[in-house]
Amino acid sequence: MSKCVVVASGYFNPLHYGHVSYLQKARDLGTSLLVIVYNDKQAVLKMGGEQVADHSSIPARDRVRLVRSLACVDLAIESIDKDDSVAETVRLLYPDVFANSGNRTPTAKEVQVCDELGIKMVNGLGIEMLLLEGFTQHYEWGKKRRESMVAALAGKAEVESPDPNRQRLCSETNKPFAELWMGDHPSGPSSVVTPNGTSAGCLISTFKTVPNVLGKIISKDGSLPFLMKVLSIEKALSIQAHPDRELAAKLHKERPHVYKDANHKPEIAIALADDFEALCGFRPVAELVEIMDHVPELATIIGENAAQRLRFSAKAGNAAEEAAALKKAFSKMIRSEGEEASRLINSLVERASAEPPSGGYPEAIEKALGLVERLHEQFGEDIGVFCPFFLNYVQMDVGECLYMPQNTPHAYLSGDIVECMACSDNVVRAALTPKLKDLDVLCEMLDYRGGKTPVVKAQQIEDDMKLYKDFDIEEFQVTHLRLEAGKKRRYCFSYHGPALGFAWRGKGTLKISGESTQLASGVVFFLSAGVDADFSAEVDLDCFIACCPSHYFKKLEFANALHT
Ligand SMILES: [Zn+2]
Repeated sequence: MSKCVVVASGYFNPLHYGHVSYLQKARDLGTSLLVIVYNDKQAVLKMGGEQVADHSSIPARDRVRLVRSLACVDLAIESIDKDDSVAETVRLLYPDVFANSGNRTPTAKEVQVCDELGIKMVNGLGIEMLLLEGFTQHYEWGKKRRESMVAALAGKAEVESPDPNRQRLCSETNKPFAELWMGDHPSGPSSVVTPNGTSAGCLISTFKTVPNVLGKIISKDGSLPFLMKVLSIEKALSIQAHPDRELAAKLHKERPHVYKDANHKPEIAIALADDFEALCGFRPVAELVEIMDHVPELATIIGENAAQRLRFSAKAGNAAEEAAALKKAFSKMIRSEGEEASRLINSLVERASAEPPSGGYPEAIEKALGLVERLHEQFGEDIGVFCPFFLNYVQMDVGECLYMPQNTPHAYLSGDIVECMACSDNVVRAALTPKLKDLDVLCEMLDYRGGKTPVVKAQQIEDDMKLYKDFDIEEFQVTHLRLEAGKKRRYCFSYHGPALGFAWRGKGTLKISGESTQLASGVVFFLSAGVDADFSAEVDLDCFIACCPSHYFKKLEFANALHT
């Protein structure tokens, strides 16, 4: 390896662990590390220009000796500069790299010297945590401001400045707060905020200027592999599925205005209350056949041919034949339109609201008919009212987790959830939406294997920590940290990559390298790769933290090894 000299700088007055972390990272950038220690005159200048008899101030020669004693430092010297920069000392040392810590912006003079001499500048080293503000989306299916967990977490549960115009006030109160996005997806990136709440720019630009916060491996891509959201659902979302990687790349290439990125989007949804309801994955074919026997409209809309095929395949019990029959039936139903479809929808809704036959319906059918009524109330004459017959219906309690693998049809119906997904916004919609329905793509892409609803079972990894992780999900895992009042927990979520989390409820502090941040409901935080975080709870504290699982890095390492 050719020699690469790195220069770092600081007051080190006094030296603390944050400095050590910065210097170690600076050392990792090259083969030797020289450290410029601000001189005593500069230290006085920093304290406001007055010579104060401050016993906590350490003389420069002692600060130099302290820094020099660190294992990662090859040489430490006093600055020769006289202002608030180290530009002239950098000029004298003429290093390959000038490395700055997270809380320091290089001065104009330093930038000029580095430009002039062709010295590479690396900024933001040793940033261990960022406070973020999530991005709220106001899709019309979201819960209204006062009932919305999204609004509460975003600190927008109340209308901020009551308008004298009452009508406007009313529309502001009724504004839906559907989703809170936490991450760097271009359609809703989080902002970085200072501890006193002022904005410090967009997370995307932070990753551009200081990619090292993402860790060595992910910094090559320069963006987060996952996106976390909170959803407050009042009304059903569209029947949808997310493409696999190959299809996503194709769709994005052909229609970038509809399919905004080239990524797949496996996702999980963790219930935040006991009322989360969803449709997800195809039912077993035998169930669908049983429903057809009780609901003649279903057999009619898919046609005699498809209905027969479903019956035969269910009897034969051949998985491939079942999938083919299901594809034919679902495609026929979802493409139905015109007068006949309209007549069948209305007949179905009438059946759903009428008294059940003597002896009643089997429970699953009764529930599906209940959904038909509800979806009809919400969307009117929409073919989507037939979907509850095809898809599994789930009702989840707080802490339970639904999994939406690629190409799996699903729709959330109601509730408040934490969602985590691969960083993408690719949605192929089928029904229950005013947005574009892409039926050709959807009918071809779906996974028609009928069966149980896919779920992720939480693992209790510590007394106070539950982990949502599935080996099939590459990009993310989610930890639920629940600390009782008075308890503490020190934890590193990911050694190789960053972590992103939020306080859901409760109160406490998050301490990193001696610096404390108050945690309260809605505080969103980003932790740099490999950071040890100290949580403590004042009031029972619940946080959700997402990061990449260890198998994500193993797979990348393996792929890199193949390429070299
Ligand atoms: Zn989805």
